[in-house]
Amino acid sequence: MENIKTHFRTCNLCEAMCGLEIKYSETNIISIKGDKKDMFSRGHICPKAVALQDLYHDKDRLKTPVKRTTNGWKNISWEEAFDEVVNRLLSIQKKYGNDAVGSYQGNPNVHNSGMMLFGTPFIKSLNSKQKYSATSVDQLPHHISSLKMFGHHMLIPIPDIDHTSFMLIIGGNPVVSNGSLMTAPDFANRLKAIQKRGGEFVVVDPRFTETAKIANQHLFIKPGKDALFLLALIHVIFEEKLTKKAHLESHINNWKVIKNLSTNFSPEKIAETIGIPTDEIKKLARKFALAKTAVCYGRLGVSTHEFGGVCLWLVNVLNIITDNFDKKGGAMFTLPAIDLVGMATVTGKTGNFDRYKSRVRNLPEYSGELPVATLADEICTEGKGQIKAMVTIAGNPVLSTPNGKHLAIALEQLEFMVAIDIYINETTQYADIILPSTTGLETSHYDLAFHQLAVRNTSKYSEILFDKNQDQKHDWEIFKELTNRMGGKDNPATPEIMIDYMLQKGPYKDKGLSVKKLKENPHGIDLGELKSCLPERLFTKDKKIELAPVEFVQDLNRLKNQLAEWKNNSNGAYNFSLIGRRHLRSNNSWMHNVTRLIKGKERCTLLINPEDAKILNIINQQNVTVSSKVGSLKIPIEISSEMMEGVVSIPHGWGHNYNGSSMRIAKKNAGVSINDLTDPNKIDFLTGNANFSGTKVKIERVK
Ligand code: SF4
Repeated sequence: MENIKTHFRTCNLCEAMCGLEIKYSETNIISIKGDKKDMFSRGHICPKAVALQDLYHDKDRLKTPVKRTTNGWKNISWEEAFDEVVNRLLSIQKKYGNDAVGSYQGNPNVHNSGMMLFGTPFIKSLNSKQKYSATSVDQLPHHISSLKMFGHHMLIPIPDIDHTSFMLIIGGNPVVSNGSLMTAPDFANRLKAIQKRGGEFVVVDPRFTETAKIANQHLFIKPGKDALFLLALIHVIFEEKLTKKAHLESHINNWKVIKNLSTNFSPEKIAETIGIPTDEIKKLARKFALAKTAVCYGRLGVSTHEFGGVCLWLVNVLNIITDNFDKKGGAMFTLPAIDLVGMATVTGKTGNFDRYKSRVRNLPEYSGELPVATLADEICTEGKGQIKAMVTIAGNPVLSTPNGKHLAIALEQLEFMVAIDIYINETTQYADIILPSTTGLETSHYDLAFHQLAVRNTSKYSEILFDKNQDQKHDWEIFKELTNRMGGKDNPATPEIMIDYMLQKGPYKDKGLSVKKLKENPHGIDLGELKSCLPERLFTKDKKIELAPVEFVQDLNRLKNQLAEWKNNSNGAYNFSLIGRRHLRSNNSWMHNVTRLIKGKERCTLLINPEDAKILNIINQQNVTVSSKVGSLKIPIEISSEMMEGVVSIPHGWGHNYNGSSMRIAKKNAGVSINDLTDPNKIDFLTGNANFSGTKVKIERVK
C-alpha cells in the first residue's frame, strides 16, 4: 500500500492513557500498536484499542442529528435540532422552573477534553440542581474522603506502584482495568516488578480475579464487608504498636481518635462475618506495617457498597498510620502539567459536599451533583422541582445505574429528552432528539482527568487523525452552540487554545510546555516520578490531614448496627451475594458493538462456585433465574472455582434489548443487565454512592 503514514496518539477508551502507534493510508487503518517510545505507557496496549478503528468505520454510529417520530427515527439538520432542543428546554424551564431540566453525564465525558471543557459550561447554563453523573455510580467515596481529609475532592492519593515493596489491592482487578482512579498502563508488569524487587502484592476479593492469579496471596472476602476488614487491620496495627508517624507527624489531626475507634473491631470480632480467618488478618496487618514501603489500593468493590465512604477513608488511614503516605513507595499525589487541583489556589473551588439535599430522598449533594440512585425518583415524583426534561451526555444509565428498568420507565414519562450520543441505545431510545459528536480518531485530545491520577507525571497531546465530514460536529462545537443559545457564557476559544493556555500557566511553565511543544514530541514529555508535596499541597484550612472527619467517624455507628444484623444473617431465600465484573475486552456498553471485542465464547454469564452449583443441581451453561427484591432475569451459568462460595457474578454493561437500537452487533449479543437486579434504595448513605456490590439474590433452575 502506498503512502503509509504514522500517527501517534493516546488511547482515550479507558483510564490507562496508552500511547498508540497507528499506521494508516488515507482513511484506512493498517495497524494499531502500542507506542514503544511513549513516555508513559512504554508500548503497552490492550485488545480494546482496535475499537478506535472499528468505531471510526462503524456504520451504526450516528453522524448527524436524528429525531424520534411516530414513524421512527428521522435525520434532521443541525439548525433544526438546535432550535428544537433549546426551545423545548427553555419552555419547560419557563413553565416549571429551572430544576425541571435534569442532566446526566456518562463516563466518556472525562475521557474527552472537548466534553470536559465545553460540556461543563453547558450544564451550568441550565442552572438546575437536578444534575447527575457517573461519579455517583462508583467514585463518590474517593472524592468525598479526599475532600474531608485533604481539603480538595480531586486530591486523590495514587499508589506509587513503581517503587513500593508491598501492595494490598482490595476490590480491584487492575490487571484487567489497567487501573481505575489510578492510571497505570501495563499494570500486570508493574505488579510483577514489585515481586522482582523482592516485594509482594496481595489481593482481597470475593473472586479469584486475573489480578489475584498473579498475586503472592489472595484472600476471599464476603462482598460489602471491606470496612470491617480495614478496621481490623488498623486495630492490629495499633494493638501491636506497629504505627509509624515519622515524617508527617506534625501535619495530622486526630491520630488518637482512630486508635479508639478501631478498638471495637478486633479480628476476632469480625473474622467470621467477613470470611477471612483471624490469623490471616493479623499476618497481613503485620506484613503491611513492617514492609519497607507499602500501599493499600481500594477500588470498585470497596467503593460501590453501602459503606464505600468509610472504606475509602480507611484505605487512606491505613496508608497514613504506617507512614506510607506522601512518601516514595506509598500513596502519593500527582503534579500534572494541567493541574486541576492546583487551580483551586486561584479559583477557590475545592469541591463541596452536602450543601443541600435531593428533593425526594434527602440524599446529599456533591459538588453540585445529586446521587444518580435517586434520578428515577426525581422524574417520577410530582411536586416543585420535578424533572420534566433530561439531557444525557455520553451515558447509558439504563444499563449502568441501579434498577435500570425503573429508570427506563421514568425516562419514558419525560416531556422532552435530548441525548448527546453516537448511538441509539437502551437510554437514548427515549430521547426526542439525539445530537451525535465526532469521536476517537476524528478528535484532538489531551487527558485532563487522567494525568491527574497517573502513577507518573507526563504530558501528551493527540492531534486529529481523520478530518470530520462537513456534516459532523465536534462535541465542543455542539456544547458551545447549546450554551450560547441557552443564554450561557460564550467562550470564543477552542479546546486547543484552552489547553495551550493551561499548559503555559501550569506547574511546568519553566519547561516551556505548550501545545506546540507537545506536537513536536508525539510520544509525550516525561515530567518525572511522583514527589512528596505535603503539607503545601493540602487544601485544609490548617494545612493538616484530617485523619478522623466527623461524618466518617459517625458513620461507624451505622456499620456497628449493620454488623449486628450481618451476624444474624437473615436473608431468607436471597442467600447469594451478587457482584459485578469487568472483562478485558469491555469497558463501556457501546464496546459491545465492536465485533472484534465481543467475539468468542459468551461472556454475559453468571459465575458460580462448583459447590454452590452442586447444591442447586445445575450444570454448566444451564439457564437459571436470578431474582433480587427489585427484579429478575434469566442467564446461563458458568461454573468456576474463581468464585467464593455463596457469591455469584454478572458482568456489567450488558442487556442490549432495545429492538430499535442502532447498535446492530450489540443487539445480536444482548446479554442481560445486572442493573435489573440492583436496588437504588440500598446506597452508601454517607456519600450517596450507588451500591452494586453484594446485592442479595436467589437462584432457581429454569424449568
Ligand atoms: S488499556 Fe485502556 S488506554 Fe490502554 S489500549 Fe486498552 S483501552 Fe486503550
